[in-house]
Amino acid sequence: KVRVRFAPSPTGPLHIGGLRTALFNYLFAKKHGGDFLLRIEDTDQNRYVKGAEEYIIEALNWCGIPFDEGPGKEGDCGPYRQSDRKNLYKDYALQLIENGHAYYAFDSAESLDFHRKDHEEKGKTFIYNWHNRLKLLNSLSLTSEEVKAKLDSGADYVIRFKSPQDEQLVLNDIIRGEITIDTNILDDKVLFKSDGMPTYHLANIVDDHLMKITHVIRGEEWLPSMALHELLYKAFGWNAPKFAHLPLIMKPIGKGKLSKRDGEKGGFPVFPLSWNESQGYREAGFFPEAVVNFLALLGWNPGTEQELFSLDELVQIFSLERVNKSGARFDPEKNNWYNQQWLQRKSDEELAKIFIKQLESHKVSVDFTRVKKVVSLIKERAVFVSDFWNLSDYIFQSPTVYDDKSVKKQWKEDTPHIMQQIAQILTGITPFESANIETIIKEWISKKELSFGKVMPPLRLILVGDMKGPHLFDIMELIGKEETIKRITNAIN
Ligand code: GLU
Repeated sequence: KVRVRFAPSPTGPLHIGGLRTALFNYLFAKKHGGDFLLRIEDTDQNRYVKGAEEYIIEALNWCGIPFDEGPGKEGDCGPYRQSDRKNLYKDYALQLIENGHAYYAFDSAESLDFHRKDHEEKGKTFIYNWHNRLKLLNSLSLTSEEVKAKLDSGADYVIRFKSPQDEQLVLNDIIRGEITIDTNILDDKVLFKSDGMPTYHLANIVDDHLMKITHVIRGEEWLPSMALHELLYKAFGWNAPKFAHLPLIMKPIGKGKLSKRDGEKGGFPVFPLSWNESQGYREAGFFPEAVVNFLALLGWNPGTEQELFSLDELVQIFSLERVNKSGARFDPEKNNWYNQQWLQRKSDEELAKIFIKQLESHKVSVDFTRVKKVVSLIKERAVFVSDFWNLSDYIFQSPTVYDDKSVKKQWKEDTPHIMQQIAQILTGITPFESANIETIIKEWISKKELSFGKVMPPLRLILVGDMKGPHLFDIMELIGKEETIKRITNAIN
């Protein structure tokens, strides 16, 4: 059975990259009828941010990609927070010491620093592996009595992985294919520290094994760790999961990786998906469907021209084989387009429920049926529900200013006279419904041998304040007979 995990460190709000990793894991799991796990990797206590875990969970739920097992949803492989699993890692580190794949090291930070600088001065890079091991302070260079004495005295130590010498590792990544690594460039990474905490590498491998993870799908920044991870599986005698490293997400313009700071540039919507700040995607008015849709296309493509996908459709057609190797450009403009598209797919009812709250903040109270009608008239032009107010304020309140340019162009000497007659005709129209008003006004215009240009534009100007807006007779019906006539009378007096 396919089992994948999203394994964030709770160090702050989730960003686009992290959320995409979660989404791709979710899609892959669901496509194969598998499980999607959330594991909180909080072994680095210094970087722990309070609330980040709750936030991650809320973010996944908001996107509609809940996990099957994780904190608060215990399955057979819990606990799912590494700090709650703290006690189980040491035995694994010791197991590697016993079978010769790891060793104790006692070097101080100063000593390591010295060696690094010393190498640098000679134009070399210091690698803590077979090149230097025997010159350093560890259980490979010391006698077993010396090691025992150090451990007994309570000296600080770390446990390091003993990376092999002169091996060509052939790794396989689902997205990148075969990668060959020369083990001589690998550092003997620290697996465990005397404070009782495992490092990311050890905890990650042990947990993926114990949680029966079949596929590791994560960001490209973890590709350099893949060799060590494969070696660790081998050292434990375990089967390694399959790996897939997702391409980087690139800045909208120019070179380089997208960073938290890129959002504000060029008036783009703010990048961080941080619901506890005011400018996350949710707060900016994005629909989860739009976020999921644009995230899915950051590095993956369906192989067709189709761009709009619901989560269910994505589950159907997603495959790791269609994930690109090269970086995916982040495009805020396009993200807005996705939101606009998803907004059109929402029912008037659903949109009206959001909009009516915004109307309250403008101190406008209207009945729901009317709000729904307004929504149906204007939604076509909106990217966000927050655009609704600007697109429709004139429906809820008479315009207080009229657009200068339009006044100059549309307001003629005989306009007041014509408008006065229009007001009179409108008074007699029942029912005051769009189609009905339209027929009567148009008949009157042709009977009087007037041009539409003399009547309709100034009328729009009076009712709306400028030349924007949907079908004018729809507007009249919506604002009602009394208000329509009031606006005309006010404008010409
Ligand atoms: N804790 C790592 C992170 O924050 C997990 C990397 C992995 O998926 O192996 O991204």
